[in-house]
Amino acid sequence: MAESLIKNQVSEQWGLVRNDLRDEFGESAFSSWLEPMAIGGMASGRVKMFVPTRFMKDWILKNYSDRIQSIWQEHNPEIKEVYFEVKASCGMDSSRLVSNNSASETEAPVLNTAPIVAPCHSLVPASGVEDISAPLDSRYTFANFVVGKPNEFAYAAARRVAESKDVSFNPLYLYSSVGLGKTHLMHAIAWHIRQQDPSRTVLYLSAEKFMYKFVQALRSKDTMHFKEQFRSVDVLMIDDVQFISGKDATQEEFFHTFNALIDEGKQIILSADKSPTELDGMESRLKTRLGCGLVADIHPTTYELRLGILQSKVMAMGSDVPPEVIEFLASHISTNVRELEGALKRLVAHAELIGRQITLDSTKEILKDLLCACDRKITVDEIQTKVAEYFKIRIADLRSERRERSVASPRQIAMYLAKKLTVRSLPDIGRKFDRDHTTVMHAVKKVEELMQTDSALSEDILLLTRILGA
Ligand code: ADP
Ligand code: MG
Repeated sequence: MAESLIKNQVSEQWGLVRNDLRDEFGESAFSSWLEPMAIGGMASGRVKMFVPTRFMKDWILKNYSDRIQSIWQEHNPEIKEVYFEVKASCGMDSSRLVSNNSASETEAPVLNTAPIVAPCHSLVPASGVEDISAPLDSRYTFANFVVGKPNEFAYAAARRVAESKDVSFNPLYLYSSVGLGKTHLMHAIAWHIRQQDPSRTVLYLSAEKFMYKFVQALRSKDTMHFKEQFRSVDVLMIDDVQFISGKDATQEEFFHTFNALIDEGKQIILSADKSPTELDGMESRLKTRLGCGLVADIHPTTYELRLGILQSKVMAMGSDVPPEVIEFLASHISTNVRELEGALKRLVAHAELIGRQITLDSTKEILKDLLCACDRKITVDEIQTKVAEYFKIRIADLRSERRERSVASPRQIAMYLAKKLTVRSLPDIGRKFDRDHTTVMHAVKKVEELMQTDSALSEDILLLTRILGA
């Protein structure tokens, strides 16, 4: 009898404490972190609280436990300590007994009773990440990745991360322009780890999906589960992180997830189309964090690498493509591997459909549109020549230190055009002007801004673009 009285008292006090907590921390924090707790019991002035996951326990200890204890002591000075234990299952036998606003309703039993009625979904411990992990392409393995000078560093780094038991570089950050093999390498890492050690949870997804999941969690007020899912993995891979540039709330969430995983020694692998420092619209503390592991870029392909890739694809497809056609493709389609692959597939499909051998002539005919586009490739040198001619200055002025407007403005325009009309990276373009990438980035931004208001400048740029044949 006496025991049940104590239980009722504890339950009643918990109701009061909960109300105070909700007032103090607000509805959102309350429902994410505090509401899922349940009373585990009380003995000798010590109150035991159950929390559904270890992650939540850590979080509560760090952020709320002091206040929980002192609020409780305000209601019952005999309480010496409030401590927390993890009890994972939703249907645990202790329960949250007192309804939110009914401190005085003390009828409910305190222990060993009905299962928790409250939102079980937010209490489920980080369960299978399968539902958020994007499917892996079975062709994207290390074995199918052709290594050459432009990608050997990124490849070696990816292999090292995939093979090592402990975290070697964290995060591994891969970057390149499109179609050069970032996604392929990430899938290869994931395949390798899954094969080597199926007990390690690997989560691979695009940054876009990350954001989508986050927004969905916000909408359904289920960010706790979201956090849990992401923070329970051993390896987190996020593809195309540039996507979250300028998306502040998602960045914030990503930053916390990132830090939590790094702190726990979990491996993170990221890809993007730019180096961390070049990611416009990304908070600087995040940029710094992104670049603090190993940053590996994949350079534009060389002729030899394109040849190698084509040969390996032809072999994999089991089709008959004459060597002169392969050489022709390798020298004429230099944009990216995806286009190269696309061209080859088109040739093979065409030959199969009409039942004729692939020849150099048929190749030129079938790929006419693609080849035209590639032939018109513009170089930074060409841009410098045309811009200098147009503004009647010397090419050397574009690279000089001179700061007069008559030179500085054409220089910025040339940098802008180089960024817009070529696939060169900012550092590459910078080198052509004897400047660093930040100067180029600044020039591009400046010209973009000026174009909004300065119609003469817009016209210059339009004309130059035409002159360059873009
Ligand atoms: P990114 O993610 O950098 O845009 P992907 O990884 O999607 O590029 O690569 C585009 C296509 O090119 C994929 O089909 C991929 O298999 C292929 N590819 C890229 N690099 C290589 C390589 N070194 N060896 C074999 N295939 C490659
Ligand atoms: Mg990709």
